[in-house]
Amino acid sequence: MQGNSEAKSLNEMVVGLAGNPNSGKTSMFNNLTGARHQVGNWPGVTVEKKEGRHVRDGQVIRVVDLPGTYSLGAFSEDEAVARNYILSGEPDLVVNIVDASNLERNLYLTTQLLEMGANLVIALNMFDEAEKKQIKIDLEAMAGILAVPVVPTVAVRNKGTSELVTAAVGAAGKGPGRTFRIDYGREAEPGIARLEKALAAVQTVKHLPARWVAVKLLEGDENIYGRVMQSLKAGDIVKLRDEVAAHIESMTGLDPESLFADRRYGFISGLIKETVTRKSTTEDRLSISDRIDRVVTNRFLGMPIFFLSMFAVFQFTFALGDPLIGYVEEFFEWLGEGAGALFTNELIASLVADGIIGGVGAVLVFIPPIFLIFFAISLLEDSGYMARAAYIMDRFMHRLGLHGKSFIPLIVGFGCNVPAIMACRTLENRRDRMITILITPLMSCAARLPIYVLFVGAFFTAFQGLIISSLYFLGIALAIMMGILFKRFLFKGEVSPFVMELPPYRVPTLKGVLIHMWERGWAFIKRAGTIIFSVVIVIWVFASLPAGVEFASRESYLGAIGGFLAPVFTPLGFGTWEAAAALIFGLLAKEVVVGMFGVVYGIGEDRLTSAIQTLWTPLSAYAFMVMSLIYIPCVAAIATIKRETNSWRWTGFAMAYSLVLGWIMAFLVYQGGRLLGLG
Ligand code: GDP
Ligand code: MG
Repeated sequence: MQGNSEAKSLNEMVVGLAGNPNSGKTSMFNNLTGARHQVGNWPGVTVEKKEGRHVRDGQVIRVVDLPGTYSLGAFSEDEAVARNYILSGEPDLVVNIVDASNLERNLYLTTQLLEMGANLVIALNMFDEAEKKQIKIDLEAMAGILAVPVVPTVAVRNKGTSELVTAAVGAAGKGPGRTFRIDYGREAEPGIARLEKALAAVQTVKHLPARWVAVKLLEGDENIYGRVMQSLKAGDIVKLRDEVAAHIESMTGLDPESLFADRRYGFISGLIKETVTRKSTTEDRLSISDRIDRVVTNRFLGMPIFFLSMFAVFQFTFALGDPLIGYVEEFFEWLGEGAGALFTNELIASLVADGIIGGVGAVLVFIPPIFLIFFAISLLEDSGYMARAAYIMDRFMHRLGLHGKSFIPLIVGFGCNVPAIMACRTLENRRDRMITILITPLMSCAARLPIYVLFVGAFFTAFQGLIISSLYFLGIALAIMMGILFKRFLFKGEVSPFVMELPPYRVPTLKGVLIHMWERGWAFIKRAGTIIFSVVIVIWVFASLPAGVEFASRESYLGAIGGFLAPVFTPLGFGTWEAAAALIFGLLAKEVVVGMFGVVYGIGEDRLTSAIQTLWTPLSAYAFMVMSLIYIPCVAAIATIKRETNSWRWTGFAMAYSLVLGWIMAFLVYQGGRLLGLG
């Protein structure tokens, strides 16, 4: 769409005015150009085209009034004209006229302009109307989040025009700010990335922003579709496109276009929550989502509701999962006995029955509660609630001077710390990223859950949900506390702005929830079959040596290693070689803490549980769980920290601080509990 205007002269700057109908575009155009404008038609179409000139300090600015649109699809001629002009590269800058008294609707176009990579300045027009409606807008916060200048204007009274020109001239010199992207969620993002890659080789769209093209193609945009069809690779790409679209539809129940629109509105409602305060009297029409949000994200109720829902998750997991553990246990006991009898060689029989089946089985018996937890968490996520939980934590963390976006990796950390540490890449600022990487291992991952379930089953049958939630919350609380300390003493500086996306609530699809549960649960089973499998064999070897020693006794290598370190844990209430050896091998993977007991005692109510009851008291058991939660992350997490921070020093620091913190916390729990007469 090149050359639909006269050629641009050398020091001329070209500005396109974009905005919804009735946002005040024409009024602003008149302010800028006076009477000196020409009216014609856009080349090829009958849509009216207006152009004029504005001169500021000798600098000539050509102003082009684009057709008023709500979106930038290719459905109407108006939208196609506006969009093709912006993509043509002719305008140095787009001024987006936004009706400040009607932000929800107007900002949709803004997200579209930003996604196209337009160099943007926002005029918050009708600022007088917004003030009359008592809508207070934090201009600085909005400019920070969108990374574009935001100027308040009242076009009918020619107010703010000069400031707008100043901002425009400044921005035109600088080019677009950081790349803007809306997160379309994990059902869509991998597909978008694949399409983006495939499109890189397509000549007809190569000059356009790649992510935007991929998104438009998924939305079924005819113009982009037509361009892609001219390519030799059209067949492959259309096939990939249909495959990705079908995946999105089956996972979310929405076609890509609706899902993307939802996420954009989600972004907008998050942005508005961060930057706009209004008197409640103006809120006459509230959607159901808004109404739920009023309660769920309420300043006072938000936190308690979040805690209650997490507590409900653990209670539910237990009520349903605990009886099931018994069946799986019986299965492994039966399997162990059967396998033991199969081998005549005593050593091999012990390796298979005690080592492999005992060790791996001790971990796998927790499949029922772990799958149930993942089921419940997927339910909360797919319904849109987790985004609210993150929003509440975001607000809270903001107040503490921490980056709100940190909470997303932290929530991922409930599943596994490794992807959570990698998710810290979404934090743009190095300081925020480093702090979040350092505190993420405090999130209680699924591997720690078997430890809790085992000990809670042995000692706290009456308060299962409560005890387990307390450990999760202890992790969150310590993460926040350490975050504040690190920020104060290690990484000083400002918090960068961020907006939480708040997609509308939706009834989750059973299929989606089951698939998300399976993805996470399968990772747990795979670990049991690989790393846990290898580690329990090593433990079995240590428990069997030196030759002739009684298996897994104090005299075995395992007992010697544990016994050597046991005194370190005496002040914490569990100075036994068993506890020490479990913690040492638990460094390889936290499930191994449980796996080692499986090797040493075998599995089952009367063997494993009763052995643990003789070694611990309820108080020292709680101290041990606290230690297991906090002390040094597993090797996989440590390796990830090294890779992501690219620094041995910070990796060493992460290990050292968590070890010291774990020891101190377990010490406080045990000694504090004793002072209170609890054990
Ligand atoms: P366009 O459709 O985007 O070109 O918008 P217009 O410039 O035609 O304006 C639409 C209506 O809004 C007109 O009645 C204007 O007088 C009015 N208007 C434009 N800007 C403002 C403003 O900043 N404040 C108020 N109160 N009214 C405005
Ligand atoms: Mg107009």
